[in-house]
Amino acid sequence: MKTVPLYIGGEFIESQTEQWIDVTDPATNEVIARAPCTTDAEMRRAIDHAGEVFKTWKETPVSERARVMMRYQALLKEHHDEIAEILSKETGKTFDDAKGDVWRGIEVVEHAANIPSLMMGETVENVAREVDTYSYIQPLGVCAGITPFNFPAMIPLWMFPMAIACGNTFILKPSEQDPLTPTRLAELFEEAGAPKGVLQVVHGGKEQVDILLTDPAIKAVSFVGSVPVGRYIYETGTKNMKRVQSFAGAKNHMVILPDADKQQVVNALVGASVGAAGQRCMAISVAVFVGEAQEWIPDVKAALAAVKPGAWNDKGASYGPVISPQAKKRVESLIAQGEAEGANLLLDGRGCEVPGLPDGNWVGPTLFSGVKPEMEIYKEEIFGPVLACMEVDTFGDAIELVNNSPYGNGTSLYTSSGGAARRYQHEIEVGQVGINVPIPVPLPFFSFTGWKGSFYGDQHAYGKQAVRFYTETKTITARWFAKDAIAETNFSIRMR
Ligand code: NAD
Repeated sequence: MKTVPLYIGGEFIESQTEQWIDVTDPATNEVIARAPCTTDAEMRRAIDHAGEVFKTWKETPVSERARVMMRYQALLKEHHDEIAEILSKETGKTFDDAKGDVWRGIEVVEHAANIPSLMMGETVENVAREVDTYSYIQPLGVCAGITPFNFPAMIPLWMFPMAIACGNTFILKPSEQDPLTPTRLAELFEEAGAPKGVLQVVHGGKEQVDILLTDPAIKAVSFVGSVPVGRYIYETGTKNMKRVQSFAGAKNHMVILPDADKQQVVNALVGASVGAAGQRCMAISVAVFVGEAQEWIPDVKAALAAVKPGAWNDKGASYGPVISPQAKKRVESLIAQGEAEGANLLLDGRGCEVPGLPDGNWVGPTLFSGVKPEMEIYKEEIFGPVLACMEVDTFGDAIELVNNSPYGNGTSLYTSSGGAARRYQHEIEVGQVGINVPIPVPLPFFSFTGWKGSFYGDQHAYGKQAVRFYTETKTITARWFAKDAIAETNFSIRMR
């Protein structure tokens, strides 16, 4: 059985642990590899190496650090299909979706290649007579990242390229459910010329994460994952005096006004709700139909009914299986709960079968209408191909509903009214807003700005905020006694 290596001090090594976690293909549940629960001694080595290499990496000129990112971007593009295939096999994502996962990571690497201008400080001359003040942006030290299963290329690439371009060293603890993609990312990073030991990759679960959260050598922790773990990471990391950014779960609403284009609404809802089997933190899981727009629910049902899950390399499949049998069980039990609570189950994805793959974690497209805010299917992040439709009378009711949600990752509005769009983007208490765009994930020159219960911390991922997160600002106030200094030299007469 293939084992997933640790990447410590620039070497890909087999862990000495006795505890291993099965990595499975979600379309068959066959075990395709085993990931180690990194031992305490191996964790120590990873942290110590990262600390040692930081001393030299932080002195590496910023343009050299940028060039590593340029070469890395080119290599990731060259290996795009190959990485996507690894990713498809361990997540079940369709090949096109897997390519998108890798591509959005590549875009962050491109952004990290701009690091010289992103790290410019500020200057003011003559803050007092002959006194200037200027600031430098300097790296923090050893940073760590803990990533979820649902984007095993994009989310590690949100983190380590930006942190390392800033001059830090990094320890990545990817999801134990799909560690093969991050391992390939690390191999290519070294091939791109990243010095050995700048990036370490360790594997495991809570025990390994706890070491990263408490070890005093680690200065900053980036986390992406579910709400309970995200809260725990933020509380524990900050209690241990670390800088923490913690991206957590979501429940994203699309508000549909009757003046929107019906076909655009239907197409957007299908892709944004069940795409990637609904396992996206920016998936649309709630559609809020305002007034007569609710007459379009049968059209949404017809479009969703035509969508089929299937294997990663099945060109006719719109999405793949959910990640594990436990995830499937949870999604199916939430569907049952929605039905029991009185929502109208218009499409039931339970018991879904895909020919030739009887053991996969399949869930068919599922649609509810008549969903109310007190129902579990509204309150819980289902993380499956399930869309909940809600009906409200007015635009104001829709805004109030969205603003009452404890989450604030993403939302979208479908309308042909500029005034309505302007009102929505201004009043809505959500960090990423799409106007006639279903999944408004900002490109990396902006930042990924979830709000409320979807994010704990202040500086967000990528963009300028990532540079602030991974650096300290040093502000220097300097006075040079120009005339006195000149008077001491032999050139004093000429200088005058
Ligand atoms: P998860 O919280 O189960 O796991 C995330 C990471 O935390 C993994 O590396 C895991 O090993 C580790 N972990 C798990 N339990 C832990 C514990 N008790 N203590 C310490 N570490 C622990 O999340 P997941 O199921 O892998 O990912 C799906 C979740 O991630 C969803 O809730 C989704 O919304 C969220 N997500 C959020 C964003 C965002 O930007 N807000 C992006 C992607 C995914």
